Amino acid sequence: RDRINYLHTVLSLAISIAEARTVLEHELETIRTGGTWKGERIITSKQGPRINVDGSHGDILNFCANNYLGLSSHPQVVEAGIEALKKYGAGLSSVRFICGTQDIHKDLEQKLAQFHEREDCILYASCFDANAGLFEVLLGPDDAVLSDELNHASIIDGIRLCRAKRFRYKHMDLNDLETQLKESQSSRLRLVVTDGVFSMDGDMAPLKGICDLAEKYGAMVFIDECHATGFMGPRGRGTDELLGVMDRVHIVNSTLGKALGGAAGGYTVGPKPLIDLLRQRSRPYLFSNSLPPPVVGCATRAVELLLASNEIAQSVGDKTMRFRNKMTEAGFTISGSDHPICPVMLGDARLASLMADDMLKLGVYVIGFSYPVVPKGKARIRVQISAAHTDQDIDRAVDAFIQTGRKHGVVS
Ligand code: PLP
Repeated sequence: RDRINYLHTVLSLAISIAEARTVLEHELETIRTGGTWKGERIITSKQGPRINVDGSHGDILNFCANNYLGLSSHPQVVEAGIEALKKYGAGLSSVRFICGTQDIHKDLEQKLAQFHEREDCILYASCFDANAGLFEVLLGPDDAVLSDELNHASIIDGIRLCRAKRFRYKHMDLNDLETQLKESQSSRLRLVVTDGVFSMDGDMAPLKGICDLAEKYGAMVFIDECHATGFMGPRGRGTDELLGVMDRVHIVNSTLGKALGGAAGGYTVGPKPLIDLLRQRSRPYLFSNSLPPPVVGCATRAVELLLASNEIAQSVGDKTMRFRNKMTEAGFTISGSDHPICPVMLGDARLASLMADDMLKLGVYVIGFSYPVVPKGKARIRVQISAAHTDQDIDRAVDAFIQTGRKHGVVS
């Protein structure tokens, strides 16, 4: 009898696994037939304006990294990573509060707080974690969060984890934000939450208007500066610096994984009591390993470079305008405003993916973005300009766009 029971269990398990497999395969097929399949190309060199891509010959011009300042492979940044690896080892095998805090973690936190001109800073393994860990610590059921409808997925997930009342305002719409601020007036604390720069469109939040409204209704302001830190504003401090509201934005989350060396890691800067509370309560901080020393070393050198000179922060602006102007002249629609994220709007997901493949054949690596990363019908190729691109690189990319655009009837 035991044997029959055993065989029955094994059989049921096999059926369940087979059913799960069928469900998963059906889901995968839906993605493929919908034209929204995201393949991954394999890079066989370090990150930079020219890379080697598995299956393609020679140097490929790379226009899809968030390597805005070209620091990902900067010799000083790499050297600092090697030094930290040698002196501090590969990693801490621990979370911060057990035995995972080294002097370099504290030093980087202090430098990031200085860079953003905020009281204190806390490091996370990623900005995704920083966004996941902030809201539930700061806001409870008596509070309210007012969030732009196009905020980054990690903000949306972070807000889902908190128990505050949720108000979603239309993208960058100050009238709608004001309506929601009026509706949420009975809440104890209120936090307006927005990306500084929206990564899919390269458009910038109207921070001055947001701060005006927040002050009028007694709310705090949070910005996610992943696509701004290091190169927006005269000293690269971010959108808040560019728009003159550094002292009116209360909390900033950002990443070390884009302009600041590109390795990994994220952080929150803001008032000291908030940072102290995050160290006590923020779950991705409490329950995840410390940032590895080489990563800390790279990021620290990147921040030091930016603190020492404003020139680096300014190095991507002219290149961005060169690309945007030439593409617009050629008849393409480029979304966003003056930001190195230059979305070439195409509409159709399959077209975006086919054009990106054709661009690679011409030696230019760009990626098509489609649903669910962007809304349906708004597929695009997101080009990202880096300070490490030369004018010739940019011209070559524009020429390749014109050639593939003509082939697919996007431009004449
Ligand atoms: N916030 C925004 C706006 C982002 O674009 C990203 C990365 O794509 C993140 C957060 C997450 O950053 P990280 O890669 O450090 O987790």
